[in-house]
Amino acid sequence: MLSRIQAEPGVSRAELARRFGFSEMAATRIARDLLGAEIIEEFDLPDEDTGKQRRLGRPRKGLRINPQGVFAAGITVSAYFSEVSICDANGQTIARREVNNSSFEDAAETARLYSNALNALMKDTDIDISRIVGVGVALSAKTSPDRSEIVRSEYFGWENDGGQFWDEVRRNTGLPVVIENIANALALSEMRFGAARGISEFALAHVATFAGVGAVSEGRVVRGASGDAGRIGHFRSHQQPLRCTCGRDDCLNLSATGFGVLAKLSKLDHDTFDRSKLPVYATSLLAVIDDDANTRYLQEAGAGLADALDPVAKILAPELIILSGILGSSNAYFEGAKQRLTAAYGYGPNNSFQLVKGEVSPSEAAALLALHTFCYSDRLDFERLNDNASNHDKGAAYA
Ligand SMILES: [Zn+2]
Repeated sequence: MLSRIQAEPGVSRAELARRFGFSEMAATRIARDLLGAEIIEEFDLPDEDTGKQRRLGRPRKGLRINPQGVFAAGITVSAYFSEVSICDANGQTIARREVNNSSFEDAAETARLYSNALNALMKDTDIDISRIVGVGVALSAKTSPDRSEIVRSEYFGWENDGGQFWDEVRRNTGLPVVIENIANALALSEMRFGAARGISEFALAHVATFAGVGAVSEGRVVRGASGDAGRIGHFRSHQQPLRCTCGRDDCLNLSATGFGVLAKLSKLDHDTFDRSKLPVYATSLLAVIDDDANTRYLQEAGAGLADALDPVAKILAPELIILSGILGSSNAYFEGAKQRLTAAYGYGPNNSFQLVKGEVSPSEAAALLALHTFCYSDRLDFERLNDNASNHDKGAAYA
């Protein structure tokens, strides 16, 4: 019900009852509880019958999310957006802080660094931090959200951490933690707060140093039997004088990505992906994207991604494909992908999916992931928020 109120501000109790097949009395009771816990608020709807006779009696009331009722925190582990943040219940970022880190070598140490930075941020904000529902961690890794583990990160070079990263953040912050691959975190964020609102069949391609896809079907992230779904970076493509993290020389990661663009522009002094250079890749790629002289190279890389989006589209038949990430959302790359999808594969706005840029930045996805997981789901800790609200002056009237 909270999800519905978030998606449809102004919805009435009667509409909610109809939508869910509740009695109106049940919907009223749930709304009363949510109001009492200060998670939602009631407001007068503007009169729609302008020009006609004004309706007599009380103005119509609608329900909406109380933006200050719930907050969520995020940790974005990335060489591009290395930061911690806090968002309100509507997903608006209200505080953020960059985390200075030059090495991602040790997973547990990285977890400590980021969670300490988050603790400092929470201490410095003036929001009621007891209403932070949890922490989302978004990073380039295959994760097992059920077991809270990082299974493998080709990007950071971590393997089977047995939940250590998650545990470190959880113990350090004292909050529930969810850890998720960046492409999946972005896909869930776009579905609730961004370009894919109300859409349950779509795919999101995250392209930065490497590329990956987060696919959503029936409103859920597609993980596959192994949990490895979406690794389009290892689609076979043209041979390159480069080595992928997997050891091959013909992966899409070597042409349609930041790593490929940097190599093409002779910005690399090596041909095998080198983890100690993650910050260098990030800085160089940002400079390359900013320079109009590189438009042709960025378009070519985008065209390379289109070759991978075609099979993705044929398998999933999505309503939408979102391009995201520092490279994926750049103008030239996006145009390159769009032109090739049209010219080589016959896709157009009227005969297939829409190709759009993401609305959620990768730096926002972590906190939105936490909001999605711990607020707009059955994992909402209602009792904690309700107890907290009862301690306020307003709570007394409700009791
Ligand atoms: Zn590969």
